[in-house]
Amino acid sequence: MQPTGSIHLGNYLGAIESWVRLQETYDSFVCIVDYHALTIPYEPAEMPKRVFELALAFLASGIDPERTTLFVQSAVPAHTELCWLLNTVTPMGDLGRMTQFKEKSDQHKANVNVGLFDYPVLQAADILLYHGQVVPVGEDQVQHLELVREIARKWNARFGEYLVEPKPVLSKTPRVLGLDGKAKMSKSLGNHIGLLETDEQIASKLRGAFTDPQRLRRTDPGRPEVCNLFTLHGSLTPPDQVAEIDEGCRSAKIGCGDCKQLLVTSLGRRLGPIRDKYGALESRPDEVHQVIDAGGARCRAIAAETMGEVRDRMGIGSRARP
Ligand code: AMP
Repeated sequence: MQPTGSIHLGNYLGAIESWVRLQETYDSFVCIVDYHALTIPYEPAEMPKRVFELALAFLASGIDPERTTLFVQSAVPAHTELCWLLNTVTPMGDLGRMTQFKEKSDQHKANVNVGLFDYPVLQAADILLYHGQVVPVGEDQVQHLELVREIARKWNARFGEYLVEPKPVLSKTPRVLGLDGKAKMSKSLGNHIGLLETDEQIASKLRGAFTDPQRLRRTDPGRPEVCNLFTLHGSLTPPDQVAEIDEGCRSAKIGCGDCKQLLVTSLGRRLGPIRDKYGALESRPDEVHQVIDAGGARCRAIAAETMGEVRDRMGIGSRARP
């Protein structure tokens, strides 16, 4: 995940929650991709703080350093080296077709840089360096992962079977819509609920949230299947209560205001403990730094092994002799 500012409910439900689950069964790697974050405008002085806060948010959300190797991309320079090598087997046409590149080029017209274009190849390096077998993603990243598989296949076809083709695992909530009920929840669109927002802040945002547009009066029956807030209940509220909300909405026993209040409660139940743990860890920054430093050291060792093999097979590097 990129350290691009405060993380939101879309990141949590679409990504972090499934990472926490997967760490029970996999040797997991979670990377804070600061090299990737340089492709859009940013303040150098802010970057270390953002990296730290993201690490903190992961740990507060249940990423367990005993089960997950949590690290910062720039602590392992092999990511950029492998990216360069993979560039040589990646067709420009494939990168130009990426939806995220088109969207970001539109958003940042003043700086459509090569890094933005090459973003998925760096992502390929992030995964292939560690022989990642499965990559948990939200719907928006499936296209990039397909390209990573393609890059691995191309490289293997040219230099011999070595890189592992990773499979995507979609999270339980692969696409969380924003409070506007239209676009994907994202900080840049301002339609988000921040992971660390208080119940009061969340309640105030939910008051203006989009629901069933045909439900104009309190007495009108609602259609939960078209309501984004009902979808959020599905991810956050106990199933028996979700069934009650469904019935209550359809029969107009409960109104949108009631439904929003119940969602505030569900969000508080889920996010409250994360906020508390975040607050506690914030006062122990050394612990957080120790975790990411140890993660970086483990990753440098694995990456060095992968790069030795990759360089040999590509006929470059200090081990290559005529
Ligand atoms: P990003 O903010 O683009 O760095 O995304 C980090 C992770 O969060 C990726 O795995 C995304 O798929 C996931 N993600 C971001 N926004 C959403 C959303 N609205 N719904 C579901 N997943 C999301």
